[in-house]
Amino acid sequence: MILVVNFQPRRTFPRKVGSILAFLKRIDGAVCDEQRGFITFEVKGKYWTSLKKEIATNPFFAESTIITRTGSLGWNDYRLLHHFDKTQPLDKFDKKCELKLVPCPNCGGKAQILKRNIARCSRCRKSYREAQSAARLKSHKN
Ligand SMILES: [Zn+2]
Repeated sequence: MILVVNFQPRRTFPRKVGSILAFLKRIDGAVCDEQRGFITFEVKGKYWTSLKKEIATNPFFAESTIITRTGSLGWNDYRLLHHFDKTQPLDKFDKKCELKLVPCPNCGGKAQILKRNIARCSRCRKSYREAQSAARLKSHKN
């Protein structure tokens, strides 16, 4: 299981950026990837406890990060563990995988797609959204 810390330096005071980066870089095995405007760190799942502690005790860290983790289906059922925007609904760290399979709107209900929209239908290979619009197009033609 992987945790991804998305750090957005613009969201906090410039003088706090250095110490937040230092904290994240100290995490054993952290893989850092800098992109325009934000820095992502991939860390092992066991570090959630220390990240949680940092969120609770360091408001500058809390206001500038988003933390997600992979689920049992990788990113297809990821959890949102922390968001600087407190109105975002968070998932429990060990929430059970929501393997709600729904019939594919495109190929007649025998194949199934994960409800979260990301995984593809095992038969027609369309995502749920693609399958929906394909089904809509078909009904227009008929
Ligand atoms: Zn299908």
